[in-house]
Amino acid sequence: MSDVAQTAARAPSRFTGKTVIVTGAASGIGLATARHFGSEGARVVLADLDLDRAGQAAEAVKTDGAPDAWPVRCDVSDEGQVRACVAGTLGRFGGLDVIVNNAGLMTFKPILELEAEDWRRVLGVDLLGAFFFVREGFEHMRPGGSIVNVSSIHAVETSPLVAPYAAAKAALVSLTRSAALEGKARGLRVNAVLPGAIETPMLRENPNVKSGVEVIDPNFVGQPADLAAAIAFLASDDARFVQGAALVVDGGRLDRL
Ligand code: NAD
Repeated sequence: MSDVAQTAARAPSRFTGKTVIVTGAASGIGLATARHFGSEGARVVLADLDLDRAGQAAEAVKTDGAPDAWPVRCDVSDEGQVRACVAGTLGRFGGLDVIVNNAGLMTFKPILELEAEDWRRVLGVDLLGAFFFVREGFEHMRPGGSIVNVSSIHAVETSPLVAPYAAAKAALVSLTRSAALEGKARGLRVNAVLPGAIETPMLRENPNVKSGVEVIDPNFVGQPADLAAAIAFLASDDARFVQGAALVVDGGRLDRL
């Protein structure tokens, strides 16, 4: 049994009748999250830059039990595409209950070599992408809905060469706080997860990890399903009194001296 199926097998079906958008759902944490929601009965919209891989992911989500799974090509840094993704979701499923802002990218450059365009690229996806979906969510989500933003432990501690990423992830925690305050009046909850090292392509292709600039003890590497379970908790009614939280999910890595 896969990690995703094992975790979901222990969980009740908290998302039956609900519609969930997961961004960056074609790979890694997003894929595991989409599969987790599907296994708990949600209709899942898989929004990703890569439509082919999102399509394959949607098939896996249906195999895991989702009544429907819809792959959508969406660049989260483009507000028109975000608007179209949400409008398409409302048209197809008649409502929207959960958004997981997971799409993200990292770049690696020393500060001396960084150009404004490097910052715009990372902030455009990792921060503005989430903002565009939060704004759409506030306009269109039903009361009781929930938004989960996927930040990073780089929001609080970081390594060299990733200044725009660390800043974007810290700002995403701040956006989560602001959105939680304004969302409350609308009956919407907004929370963030801060993953540590998670076994995904992003981790293994990370030049800092490959070069040893960032050393990761294998005991502190989690699986995408570990994040999926935490995200599903925050999105579910089990977390109905959790608002504006920043949940570190890192196996205790940040606690070490
Ligand atoms: P991944 O590279 O495996 O998957 C990222 C997905 O996002 C890909 O499918 C990619 O196509 C998609 N994507 C990238 N840019 C996009 C855009 N503009 N619009 C739509 N989709 C886009 O990465 P992952 O490790 O699963 O990371 C997911 C999230 O978790 C990211 O926000 C990342 O910053 C965060 N995170 C990951 C780790 C880790 O160790 N893997 C740690 C902390 C935080």
